[in-house]
Amino acid sequence: MTVVADIASDIIRRIGLAAERAGREPSEVRLIAVTKTVAPETIKEALGAGLRTFGENRVQEALAKARELQGLGIEWHLIGHLQKNKAKAAVGIFEMIHSVDSIGLMEFLDSHARRLGKVQRVLIQVKLAPEDILKHGTGEKEVKGLLGAADGMKNLRVEGLMTIPPFFDDPERARPYFKVLKTLADEYGLKELSMGMTGDFEVAVEEGATMVRIGSAIFGERTK
Ligand SMILES: *Cc1c(COP(=O)(O)O)cnc(C)c1O
Repeated sequence: MTVVADIASDIIRRIGLAAERAGREPSEVRLIAVTKTVAPETIKEALGAGLRTFGENRVQEALAKARELQGLGIEWHLIGHLQKNKAKAAVGIFEMIHSVDSIGLMEFLDSHARRLGKVQRVLIQVKLAPEDILKHGTGEKEVKGLLGAADGMKNLRVEGLMTIPPFFDDPERARPYFKVLKTLADEYGLKELSMGMTGDFEVAVEEGATMVRIGSAIFGERTK
């Protein structure tokens, strides 16, 4: 086995154990391998290890990789902020967009998806920490308005919520954020919860994550 394959199977095992601790089925949690800055050859190794779903945070970078790795059965997810002027390209490549945070962006995605004859699956990114240095994400109170707007959009389907808690050395400190996201998703009957990264994915799975976005634990520290 390659190093990537070894590491990936260990992470999948840890996801499974965390799910079991919470009385959940391991199969309820999908691993999104985050490949930003990761070279296409390394992505091929990850494919060899059985990973199929990859997360990118930039449309341009994803476009280039999607072209180079065409026909290999990869499902691409956008996990980073999306600007309206990239919405058209994004609809062309991504199965799921995790970072939708405004009605304006939803309208752009819906209309581009309509032209492509596709239903774009999305998650609403919720910013739960006012002290968060991250700029993106909608407020907790805005979620209802976004969902209401989405009701009228035939080519856009909101399947769940995503969040990025502030970074903590101790993953336990991220737990309250995951709990809030889970409660919010339940309140609106949303099924998918994209939460948990390298430092805190086990806690996120214990709190109900259905997708974890893991980069550096699989591919090593990013240098850029
Ligand atoms: C980079 C990134 C990740 C993965 O982070 P790691 O700590 O390397 O696992 C997850 N989610 C988002 C939105 C990211 O930008």
